[in-house]
Amino acid sequence: MKRKIRRLPLFAGLSALAFARPSRLPGQLVIQITNHCNGSCPQCGMRREAEIRRANLPAETVRNALRDCAETGVEAVSFTGGEPFINIPEILKLLDYAGDLKIPCLRSGTNGYMFAPGGEAAGLDQLIPFVEAVVKSPLRNFWISVDSADTGTHERLRGLPGVIGGIAKALPVFHARGLYPAVNLGINRCIAGAMIPPLEEPGDEDAFLENYRRGFSAFFTKAVDMGFTMANVCYPMSFETANLETGKPAYGAISDDIMVRFSRRELRLVFKALLETIPAFRKAIRIFTPLSALYALSRENSRDLLFPCLGGICYFYMDSRDGHIYPCGYRGDEDLGASVAALRTAPGSQRPFCEKCHWECFTDPSQLFGMFRHVIRHPLNVCFGKHFDRQMLRLWFSDVKYYLACDLFDGRKPFKHMINLEHTL
Ligand code: SF4
Ligand code: SF4
Repeated sequence: MKRKIRRLPLFAGLSALAFARPSRLPGQLVIQITNHCNGSCPQCGMRREAEIRRANLPAETVRNALRDCAETGVEAVSFTGGEPFINIPEILKLLDYAGDLKIPCLRSGTNGYMFAPGGEAAGLDQLIPFVEAVVKSPLRNFWISVDSADTGTHERLRGLPGVIGGIAKALPVFHARGLYPAVNLGINRCIAGAMIPPLEEPGDEDAFLENYRRGFSAFFTKAVDMGFTMANVCYPMSFETANLETGKPAYGAISDDIMVRFSRRELRLVFKALLETIPAFRKAIRIFTPLSALYALSRENSRDLLFPCLGGICYFYMDSRDGHIYPCGYRGDEDLGASVAALRTAPGSQRPFCEKCHWECFTDPSQLFGMFRHVIRHPLNVCFGKHFDRQMLRLWFSDVKYYLACDLFDGRKPFKHMINLEHTL
């Protein structure tokens, strides 16, 4: 109990410091080190067959950005892709470099191709060198993406036969060496196997909701069965939901494929299904996704319940094609230049109330930490303003308790399966 209480000021302090400052402050930089990928997911604009301009960020560009991050006090750096581990020696060198600079929170992940070389699950002798190299790196969080509870569906979509068996074999090896990978689900219409059909008629809403409840439930069950102790959910990234017809998306994962294209009505139901499913699994697996964010996203008045997205204010994205920084992966029409240090004075709108998309990497922490920023800046509004929604506040407090109980999702710590919290909705 004492440890939890001691972590509370640290959590609040970090958040408050990061979000109370008036200027742009990079708290998190997502660096797309490559947009090459060896996966074939039809719902992703970077799949291996896609005809896009491919690029790797030069190592020197990444090192410069990392030095800037360390000097500017950036708390978290994520290496994303494409497939970030497509060049394993290269990313391990970059991670070591970032570790030497003492950047506190380093994250990256993989589509798992190395666990299924040659189209079948790898043997232990093939897995162990990779696992040991990742464990030895300074990564705090390592994710492995899985997009369906159904093994055949996931492997067919990704074009990586054998990958689920390989991952399941690798997980105990990671755990024995002290790293606890997170499974990363990108929401799509095949999360449970067969395609969940689009919602055509208003009367079909209950069936659509139930399909997604079952799908999420099947997914978390599968994740636990595979041996994962941590999970994250990425919200759909489609043009329609992103409402970016006039913008120029920087992050190539955005797609208009039916697999990830949802109407706003469908999206609200998807978020509701996830909101209603997660509580039953929070004791079985650590799930990052804050319920307060899902509650807000599932409501028609979501704008009143969401704290402003901090993309372009505290969080930034660096694109592999030009090494330039953008407010996020979506606002590709706002080039903020190549220097992290120059962000404080960079021109361009801060758009504190941007709600063009639901990029989970920025939406979830903005909701979770936005409260601290809000309390510091508008203390009376918390009691009397538009964010005063009892259910949202209740879920937000339960999220904070859960995050503390989960050691702030430290991927170097095991899951203490007995979390003594109530999470009923
Ligand atoms: S979702 Fe990931 S693994 Fe699949 S094609 Fe896109 S970047 Fe590659
Ligand atoms: S809501 Fe956030 S992540 Fe989405 S486009 Fe706006 S600033 Fe970017």
